[in-house]
Amino acid sequence: MAQPAKPLRRSQRVRESHKLTESQRSQLQDLLDEVDDKVELIGDPDWEQNGAQTPCRRLKKNASWTAKNPNKITKWPKVLKLTHIAWMLFKGIVCPTTDEGEMSHICVDPNRKKGARSARCFEGSHLEFETHKENKSRDPCHNAIDKWVSNNRNNSDAVTTGTIYLSNVAADLGVDEVGLCKHTPLCFGNYGQINEQD
Ligand SMILES: [Zn+2]
Ligand SMILES: [Zn+2]
Repeated sequence: MAQPAKPLRRSQRVRESHKLTESQRSQLQDLLDEVDDKVELIGDPDWEQNGAQTPCRRLKKNASWTAKNPNKITKWPKVLKLTHIAWMLFKGIVCPTTDEGEMSHICVDPNRKKGARSARCFEGSHLEFETHKENKSRDPCHNAIDKWVSNNRNNSDAVTTGTIYLSNVAADLGVDEVGLCKHTPLCFGNYGQINEQD
């Protein structure tokens, strides 16, 4: 016997209308443009030629941008942060609800000290919407990469700028690279300040 149709849960409603409309897209782009002159790029300046990762995009030290709360453009997420905006523009879809997962960084947080999270990367291609478990499971990879970079900062034989994957440094650290990073996309860290041309 056919079940009576249940009303859609909010997550299903969001999924059904998940593609960004032209108007949403341009409003989100306008918001992202607001921080254009407040951005610093971190990574390999010749990333395209070198096959490295797109540089990380962060707000410069002391620069700020106020998250939009309530978010009137896509309605969800309720608080619209730069990471949400960049992710949505990159994927072309509205951000899923929190019962489906959370925003996760593929790239290493350059300010891993507690309380410095606001300066995290908002390059759309470095963001994944994953479960909390998947997000947390990237921590050992990020920690190992970052540990190697801080260990080798004063080592003139080591290249500590550009894009660094766990496979580049695992042997040095004596960690089991295969046992660690099984993530898709692979975890990486971008290092080195890129000066923008004027
Ligand atoms: Zn990044
Ligand atoms: Zn990983």
